[in-house]
Amino acid sequence: MSLSKETELIFDAHRGKDYDSANPPLYDSSTFHQKVLGGDAAYDYARSGNPNRALLEEKLAKLEDADYAFAYASGIAAISAVLLTLNAGDHVILPDDVYGGTFRLTEQILTRFNIQFTTVDTTELNEIEQAIQKNTKLIYVETPSNPLFKITDIKGVANIAKQHKLLVAVDNTFMTPLGQSPLALGADIVVHSATKFLGGHSDIIAGVAITNNETVANALYLLQNGTGTALSAQDSWTLAKHLKTLPVRFNQSVENAQKLYTFLSQREEIAEVYYPGNDKLHLSQARHGGAVLGFRLKDETKAQAFVDALSLPLVSVSLGGVETILSHPATMSHAAVPKAVREARNITFGLFRLSVGLEQPEELIADINYALKEAFNESTTQQTEEQHTRR
Ligand SMILES: *Cc1c(COP(=O)(O)O)cnc(C)c1O
Repeated sequence: MSLSKETELIFDAHRGKDYDSANPPLYDSSTFHQKVLGGDAAYDYARSGNPNRALLEEKLAKLEDADYAFAYASGIAAISAVLLTLNAGDHVILPDDVYGGTFRLTEQILTRFNIQFTTVDTTELNEIEQAIQKNTKLIYVETPSNPLFKITDIKGVANIAKQHKLLVAVDNTFMTPLGQSPLALGADIVVHSATKFLGGHSDIIAGVAITNNETVANALYLLQNGTGTALSAQDSWTLAKHLKTLPVRFNQSVENAQKLYTFLSQREEIAEVYYPGNDKLHLSQARHGGAVLGFRLKDETKAQAFVDALSLPLVSVSLGGVETILSHPATMSHAAVPKAVREARNITFGLFRLSVGLEQPEELIADINYALKEAFNESTTQQTEEQHTRR
């Protein structure tokens, strides 16, 4: 019987073994006894492989309908592995608004090993095509992008790549395997920061690279073992457990995000809302708008007062947790970008990113509504200042 992803994630391959426990045991061992010298025991040393990671990788591959998945110690470790499948002298095309950590990895580390990068606006397919060089090997894409939710045409990119015999990698962190399936759209490799929705509880840092390409898979395994960046047994066990609730968590967050989107779009204190839920191109390649949105306050000088008046959201970097997380790109994810460049890219002080969690959406809306009113109400601000002076 072929099972749905929801059932597949909950049904443990482990059932029927040991004590028929609901959850698999945690194999907290760095090494394994070898009865037969030179024999072929399933596991020998845990960097090279352990049962918890194997079980997790099997689940992750199924989630993306793929043959191979490799779990790493972070999203960035997974992305590093993908880029390290290349050789010195190879060239990669990247989005100009790629995730900050990916940009740092390419700019400050991989260029030292003569892997070359060109950044382009990947939403313009002709810009990608024009950036292709003789030594180009990989087009790397993130869609929707962060924090302005720009959409890149994955099929379009895959078509260009095929014509030039290049590989395509997609960072699918924001949509999860449930919201968007880049491999089915022609991509060769998918990466996720499993720290976000896949983990979902803001308690582990993890990443995964997934592919159907056997050559790439062999290279990814060599890097996982050979550079020692595999996910630990403990974190693999935790992530596999959290994955069981991914469908209910993510679907509910998406539903809540749609309500928050409607609310934010109607607020006069807000200049713009960024959410791909109505974007034609996005909806042609994804199942919905996801659970993360961006918004810009009309008056950026109210940003701190807005945060001060909020009670429910966690104000922090990251996304994809059960709790709603409000990020401020200008001082968090994009703080290292020079102010002029940031402003030119529309990452202003008034811009926020909201990853919608599992709180009652009506309560989130009430909280944000209160904070907006509080921040934008001049008389309230004056009053508080007066009270401040009196104290
Ligand atoms: C968080 C994130 C990463 C990096 O993942 P880590 O687990 O923090 O290393 C990569 N890409 C995107 C889109 C992310 O949000």
